[in-house]
Amino acid sequence: MDSMRDLTAFISTRANAVDASGIRKVFDLAAKLKDPINFSIGLPDFDVPEPIKQAAIASINAGQNRYTQTQGIAPLRERLRRELSGEIGRDVGEVLITSGVSGGLMLAMMAIINPGDEVVYLDPYFVMYKHLLTLTGGVPVPVDSYPDFRFRADRVEAAVTPRTKAIILNSPSNPTGVVMTPAEVSAAVELAKKHDLLIVSDEIYEPFLYAGDAGKLPSPAKIYDRTIILRGFSKSHAMTGWRLGYAAGPAEIISQMTKLQQYTFVCAPSPLQYAALVALDVPMQAAVDKYRIKRDIVFNGLGDRFEKVKPQGAFYIFPKVPRGWTAADFCTAAIEKNVLIIPGNVFSERDTHFRISYATTDEKLAAGIEILNSI
Ligand code: PMP
Repeated sequence: MDSMRDLTAFISTRANAVDASGIRKVFDLAAKLKDPINFSIGLPDFDVPEPIKQAAIASINAGQNRYTQTQGIAPLRERLRRELSGEIGRDVGEVLITSGVSGGLMLAMMAIINPGDEVVYLDPYFVMYKHLLTLTGGVPVPVDSYPDFRFRADRVEAAVTPRTKAIILNSPSNPTGVVMTPAEVSAAVELAKKHDLLIVSDEIYEPFLYAGDAGKLPSPAKIYDRTIILRGFSKSHAMTGWRLGYAAGPAEIISQMTKLQQYTFVCAPSPLQYAALVALDVPMQAAVDKYRIKRDIVFNGLGDRFEKVKPQGAFYIFPKVPRGWTAADFCTAAIEKNVLIIPGNVFSERDTHFRISYATTDEKLAAGIEILNSI
């Protein structure tokens, strides 16, 4: 028919309002390179530990292949609630098993955001925050945290308006590796109390802590019960493809997220929820210790031309490009030399830095750093 519209005319304003992830663009480039040194992927370089894989296979063979309850299987939810409550020092509230932390973030935004509601978070930020807010009709309010990426209550408070509904915290941070101090967490909570805000605490990198007293994340949930904790198995157990995470917090909000899950994700993958129970008994500290060494290799290996903040957690570092370069040109030069890094503007309103994921072999790390130092 002559009168038929171009297919692009069918695309919603919502879909058009978000860009394809800049990381995907680097991944597409990577697919064309032969054996690149890949510093672009945000997932551990180890595989899912064997007992967890076997548990997943056994679960499939045992017929645990049907929908689970929307909120997830009871033994997993109960165990997570018990353990998280022990860590946080009070009952954390309801637990919902989600399709990754991404699923938890999406449901949290759908549950709390009305059109025009503002949400504040530090810049640099994890890419999804901005887009999920746009998709749910909210207004993303990034707060510049350069040059040291610390939480500064004065900067954050200056961004709060009567429309602000929540603060998203992400510690340890993707892309900076910064871990909030207890004092910073207290300052964030004071601010949330003063302005009647929720805190959404993205703690997906919680196991990856490298400071002296590693293993204890200062979570805002410890001092503020209006916190939605989001954690998952993607990074801790290298299960990014299994799509398993969980949300914990006040029943009033988690129950709304559960209702929304019913009409979207339905439930997290059933056999993998059973395998997650086994995952909780697999010690991962040895893997984390290896990542501390990788952190040191990168931090000490990058030359003085790179202004950088020493990461205390996760597996990223976010250095500034050397003087005289734009981030885009520096990343292109690195990619031409077979090293994949991600330009800072993917995570930021600025374009002056780049992200290295050091979740790769020590050999690749050393080789990649030498190349970056030579550009
Ligand atoms: N939050 C942060 C900060 C992340 O880096 C990621 C993954 N890159 C996620 C959430 C989502 O992880 P997943 O959906 O695999 O649990």
